[in-house]
Amino acid sequence: MDINIFNTLSSKKEVFTPLVKNKVGIYNCGPTVYDTVHIGNLRTFVMYDIIRRVFEYNEYFVTQVMNITDVDDKTIKRSQEKKISLEELTRHYETLFISDIHSLNILTPNKLLSARDHIKDMIEMISILLEKGIAYQTKDGIYFSIGLSKDYGKLAKLKIEATDTHTLRERISNDEYEKENPRDFALWKFYTEEDGQVFWDASFGKGRPGWHIECSAMAGRALGPTIDIHAGGTDLIFPHHTNEIAQSEATYDKHFVNYWIHGAFMNVNDAKMAKSKGNFYKLADLENEGISPLAFRYWLLTSHYRSQINFTIEAVKGAQTAFIRFIETFIRLQDISAGHEYEHVHKALEPRDYKKDFLEKVNDDFNTPEALALAWELIKDHTVEAKEKVILLMDFDKILGLGLHAVVNIQKEEIPTEVTVLAEAREKARENKDWEMADAIRKEITDRGYDVNDTDKGFTLKKRN
Ligand code: AMP
Ligand code: ZN
Repeated sequence: MDINIFNTLSSKKEVFTPLVKNKVGIYNCGPTVYDTVHIGNLRTFVMYDIIRRVFEYNEYFVTQVMNITDVDDKTIKRSQEKKISLEELTRHYETLFISDIHSLNILTPNKLLSARDHIKDMIEMISILLEKGIAYQTKDGIYFSIGLSKDYGKLAKLKIEATDTHTLRERISNDEYEKENPRDFALWKFYTEEDGQVFWDASFGKGRPGWHIECSAMAGRALGPTIDIHAGGTDLIFPHHTNEIAQSEATYDKHFVNYWIHGAFMNVNDAKMAKSKGNFYKLADLENEGISPLAFRYWLLTSHYRSQINFTIEAVKGAQTAFIRFIETFIRLQDISAGHEYEHVHKALEPRDYKKDFLEKVNDDFNTPEALALAWELIKDHTVEAKEKVILLMDFDKILGLGLHAVVNIQKEEIPTEVTVLAEAREKARENKDWEMADAIRKEITDRGYDVNDTDKGFTLKKRN
């Protein structure tokens, strides 16, 4: 079945065609490790995880690459404020990041790349750009000339006229700036005292890379000059991804990325959750509120990744109630399929193909809210046996990642078939009001070490301790 993806570049849904059959290379912009990630960042990392899982579910061989931004303006500044080395600071927050993603059942990317380990690749790219005359040197660094780049701003739909001399003359050395201000940007920043111990030698001068060239160099190194998918939050469309396209395409003269995927923000009171705004929560804050990481993941899956969501504790607590019901129902379905409980099934003449329906939802631009709703429809469907439901839900969880396999491990001991058969015969006797027979069968069940109890939905069976 086709996978349809909303591509930011074309602003429409497109059928995914891989560069190499049955393979997909995905580059994800990872965290800047100067602090603990917030739950807005985690929304984007869950989106990456869903994308990867959907491709794996479709039997693609996936190479998911994520970078760790462990050198940039923010990390250097924070390490100096804390009076610790850049290595110490970034290693600490990288460890916390890994721990957070594991709590959320986010699969570890196949390649986690440190920017500091790829400085050579960045220097190589900058050298090529200098040679081609697309990059130029100033007093404080090496800059990329956006006026010489083909289609600069196509991803962010910027309109820059060749006559726009104001824009084309100005430069910006900061890593982050506004869409209203496209400028020549820094590829390499020459060493200043503020950089302390952080510098590398290059033929064009001692210094450190700009943020944007880091991802271009790592993506090229790990996946080649043209890659299938590149993803990030919408805040990265400009300038980060716009500049990545400019650098990579100017260096290699090849189309950089076939499908651009951008996830919408998590807001708080309609403002973007951001560290700089101080309006953020961390995963640990949620746990202090009694919210489990997987309940938070469940909440995220109830919205489409391209819709902005507004975070409130109450909203996530509501999702947690639904999540608990989901897990409890799953446990109960296992009980029923193990013969612990009586099951009434009215098999349909034409059974619904839930697996196909599920695949349709997730392959339609990763529609998790509809996939989750389908899982609930399956749970409530009286025409499907509990055993079948358990198998299907376990299968769906390969994408949803709600931890059902962990619940299976605590599955109760199977009830022997003959005991279930006896309990069913007793149920029939009771329906026929043959109390003598029902009591005789109960004794038989008890003698075999099991207790049978009657409920308004039928019987339950339990092994006596
Ligand atoms: P950063 O550590 O700031 O580089 O961000 C890591 C990832 O989180 C990037 O892909 C950002 O686009 C994303 N991100 C940052 N803030 C939010 C937010 N409030 N909601 C969703 N994603 C975000
Ligand atoms: Zn990036």
